[in-house]
Amino acid sequence: MRRMQPSRVLIVGAGLAGSLLAVYLARAGWSVELVERRSDPREKRFAAGRSINLAISARGIKALTRAGLTDVIMKDAIRMGGRMIHLVAGSGGFQPYSSDPTRAINSVSRSVLNLGLLDAAAAEANVRVAFDQRSTTIDFDKREATFINDRTGETRTISADLIVGADGAFSAVRAAMQRFEGFDYSQAFLTHGYKELHIPAVAVGPHAPFAMEPQALHIWPRGASMMIALPNPDGSFTCTLFWPHTASDGGASFASIRTADEALAHFRAVYPDALALMPTLAADFVRNPVGSMVTVRCAPWTRNNVILLGDAAHAVVPFYGQGANASFEDCEALADALTQEATVSGALRAYELARIDNSNAIADMALRNFIEMRDLTGRRSFRWKKKLEHTLHVLFPKTFVPLYDLVSFSTVPYAEAKARGLRNDLLIKRLMYCVVLVLVALIVFSLAQWAEFNHQKYSLSALFVFLVLVIAQRVAASVGTSRSPR
Ligand SMILES: Cc1cc2nc3c(=O)[nH]c(=O)nc-3n(C[C@H](O)[C@H](O)[C@H](O)COP(=O)(O)OP(=O)(O)OC[C@H]3O[C@@H](n4cnc5c(N)ncnc54)[C@H](O)[C@@H]3O)c2cc1C
Repeated sequence: MRRMQPSRVLIVGAGLAGSLLAVYLARAGWSVELVERRSDPREKRFAAGRSINLAISARGIKALTRAGLTDVIMKDAIRMGGRMIHLVAGSGGFQPYSSDPTRAINSVSRSVLNLGLLDAAAAEANVRVAFDQRSTTIDFDKREATFINDRTGETRTISADLIVGADGAFSAVRAAMQRFEGFDYSQAFLTHGYKELHIPAVAVGPHAPFAMEPQALHIWPRGASMMIALPNPDGSFTCTLFWPHTASDGGASFASIRTADEALAHFRAVYPDALALMPTLAADFVRNPVGSMVTVRCAPWTRNNVILLGDAAHAVVPFYGQGANASFEDCEALADALTQEATVSGALRAYELARIDNSNAIADMALRNFIEMRDLTGRRSFRWKKKLEHTLHVLFPKTFVPLYDLVSFSTVPYAEAKARGLRNDLLIKRLMYCVVLVLVALIVFSLAQWAEFNHQKYSLSALFVFLVLVIAQRVAASVGTSRSPR
């Protein structure tokens, strides 16, 4: 097949995905304009963003390795091999993410990640980076984008053969596409918001400079809400509270708990072990803003050689720690399509086809994982289910791979991971019923042996047959009504 000649690409947004894509395309011979709304973070060596640290896993590491950036970015990463659960009554124990103890997700500073990617993009000879330029309008026929400098009011128009909207969850490029007929779009805000808090490093203690076990993602599951904490290289933890914006049932919410005193009283009752480690809680709680979380789905992602990528195409809630990982996968898929296809439009179609179902799948799984994290992780039944999954994984490593492993420790497409996860759930349900059946059979046979009279034996046998039939019917019904994997 004839390959296309790389030409001019304009990338709107120098966030995580835009900067990585700039590196890939520059190395593939494209002349890249990378244009960002914010000021240059390299001046202060600090990139602002929506969270202080991020969990980066297999997909992100693969994409960073391809750009030769793992050494720089993963240098100070902290491995998190599982979840450390904090119940109101005390420790709920450690729940490993995988049966393979070498598998871990990594806590990485968002600022280090963004600056590392930006430095790498700017180091490429054919990348030009511009800051303080906010994209305002797109002319899809002329393939031009207009930018405004909000400080000076100056405007600038850039034309290109390919325009990539990598401008995040509230993308201006996507907003421009929304004006056209046939563009499907949905935006669903979560009823919960988030607020970041802080656990400082300590001088003494079993994990010093960390106040708690560093190699874990800490979770305080509280049913309708939760707090999590990820370790930072300086020994501190960044905590994130996930509470409903408002709660009609009288539970904790950002509307009902607003002052320092209210926060302290609530933490004393509900997060007592964390409160002991949070000397600045009162000030942090009042000062730090409440953020919103949104799921964005849209289609098509392409219009006249303008394409969406990363959160601009598919913002997901953060509960699987996959938003950035998925956005990095997008960059790989788009760069591959542009080298493999004969035309830009063909490449954009191939990229969209490869990614759209997968991004919808991770959006669904991320929503579901919120319930798992805030509620199920605190339950004994959940711990048993995880142990069973891990045992099956050890026994049948190829045929039974738990969903968490598929999402975080493999690069199996998200849609396939989701389908396999549903099949796993079905299998576990069947197994549980089989175990119950065997137990019932054992009990009834023991009773039958114990009974001395024949007529008692007959009635017990009849009871046994009846129980087996009832349970078999329940198994059949549950299997029949379980959602088949999509
Ligand atoms: C609380 C929280 C925790 C998270 N934790 C994780 C995690 O643990 N693991 C994970 O993988 N993901 C996580 N995510 C998701 C992750 O942050 C995003 O998926 C990721 O940042 C997407 O990258 P992006 O480049 O598409 O968008 P962004 O990183 O948002 O970058 C978009 C860039 O575009 C710029 N921009 C916006 N509008 C314009 C405009 N009009 N003109 C020019 N430039 C513009 C912005 O300034 C920004 O620099 C989390 C998200 C949140 C909110």
